[in-house]
Amino acid sequence: MSLAQSISKREHSDDLLQSNKRQQTGLTNYETKETLPLVAQLFNLIPGKECTYNISEKPITTIGRSRSCDITLNEPDISTTHCELHLIDMEVDGIHRKLINIIDKSRNGTFINGSRLVKKDCILKNGDRVVFGKTFSFLFKYVSISDLNNAESDSATAAAESKDDNTVFKKPQFSFTSSQNALKRQPRQKPSSVFDKYLIGKELGSGHYAVVKDGTNKQTGQAVAVKIFHPQQNDDQKKSKQFREETNILMRIHHPNIVNLLDSFVEPISKSQIQKYLVLEKIVDGELFERIVKKTSLRQDETKSIFKQILVGLKYLHNQNIIHRDIKPENILLNITRRTSPDQLQLGPWDEDEIDIQVKIADFGLAKFTGEMQFTNTLCGTPSYVAPEVLTKTGYTSKVDMWSAGVILYVCLCGFPPFSEQLGPPSLKEQILQAKYAFYTPYWDNIDDSILHLISHLLVLDANKRYSVDQVFEHEWLKDSTPQANVIKDMKRLQLSDGQLPKTYSEMSCL
Ligand code: ADP
Repeated sequence: MSLAQSISKREHSDDLLQSNKRQQTGLTNYETKETLPLVAQLFNLIPGKECTYNISEKPITTIGRSRSCDITLNEPDISTTHCELHLIDMEVDGIHRKLINIIDKSRNGTFINGSRLVKKDCILKNGDRVVFGKTFSFLFKYVSISDLNNAESDSATAAAESKDDNTVFKKPQFSFTSSQNALKRQPRQKPSSVFDKYLIGKELGSGHYAVVKDGTNKQTGQAVAVKIFHPQQNDDQKKSKQFREETNILMRIHHPNIVNLLDSFVEPISKSQIQKYLVLEKIVDGELFERIVKKTSLRQDETKSIFKQILVGLKYLHNQNIIHRDIKPENILLNITRRTSPDQLQLGPWDEDEIDIQVKIADFGLAKFTGEMQFTNTLCGTPSYVAPEVLTKTGYTSKVDMWSAGVILYVCLCGFPPFSEQLGPPSLKEQILQAKYAFYTPYWDNIDDSILHLISHLLVLDANKRYSVDQVFEHEWLKDSTPQANVIKDMKRLQLSDGQLPKTYSEMSCL
């Protein structure tokens, strides 16, 4: 190495040292000018290398090995310009938000929460783990108004810490511009991101439109379920406004037999895509479907107690002019109070180890979040529980839920649905359109006639003649009167040949 080369190298590394020192005290090259407000921060998480990089309100912030980058990361696996952080102003859910869109430019990759960014833009969110190459791991966080407020109260501590040269990890410090001072005076706002308010954990279940994950309210510690819908295009501000209005209405719906909606958020995931989040009351003991599968079928008294609660929930929804349209055992969730000693009194006809079961209807108002078209198409795709008028798309009323309630009642008692491809021909759809079903022997042999009577007044083609919730409450089976013999004269229990015997859900799940 020539003298000139070695001097230039030394100068270069001195420069890098200076630059790193500036950044590690929380000041990027750019921010030394202190003209632009802070938008976000990257916290280095590697033990021994803890430091904070500030991202200011600059159109593009560059990160890379080059000294000309706004944030210099001096390691061989970091590309000259490793990635760019683009500041974008997006209107999401009626709110203007300044967001950071990260674009990878590297050879060794940029990883967000373990996934490599591949030729896609990605909007960073609070709590994202961002890894550059193999060496640098950061936690990303937007600077919120409350951070600025906290910074003020923390300023004394932070100032004391900054004087201590041995402290490597320093709390972010802020030099307030007048506009930031104005921000400080504003009252605390509703967090605009779900990640500000909730910690999101493991998956609880998944469905047609969404995954549901465990969540915890960071302030109250309340356990919640967070339903995360599949990404949608962010192309219609009118729809966003509608989403906000509708969730506001649905958040006012509160009932013990309904899974309550607690909060809703729209999160941008790229320049063109958004994701909707619903924060729901968390239900811990799974779906009615799983209970039926586990027990093959439910006892009559147990079915009655569950069915009554479904009806109470439906009555409440119908009184609020909400039609569920997707009532099925997967959407009926259970909270079970367990019995810890035989002395504890049971509050219903439950299993030995159970004191009580609270039934909760999930997924009301779903069409509003998925889009009407997608919702109806999905319903019609697997229509086991769907009323005929939904399939023919000839207009529907709250009576569609009463048809589905009839299907649920049937399934609970025998363990298989009244309409299925397996029972065909005709096809499943045709069976529904003709209301063609039967009470097969031996499954229905020991079931009260009054239940058969009730089911046959729910699975009725003409919605006007189908029982409403109130009529069901008036029915003798629910009024606990002794069932009369032979209530149904025209409803014969049907004998099938062996090859035609329907399979219960429980048998199907063993296949
Ligand atoms: P989709 O509407 O996409 O079909 P679901 O709402 O049915 O999705 O949710 C999928 C699964 O997540 C459910 O079957 C259930 O197991 C679980 N789940 C849904 N909501 C809750 C909740 N509030 N509490 C606990 N688990 C839930």
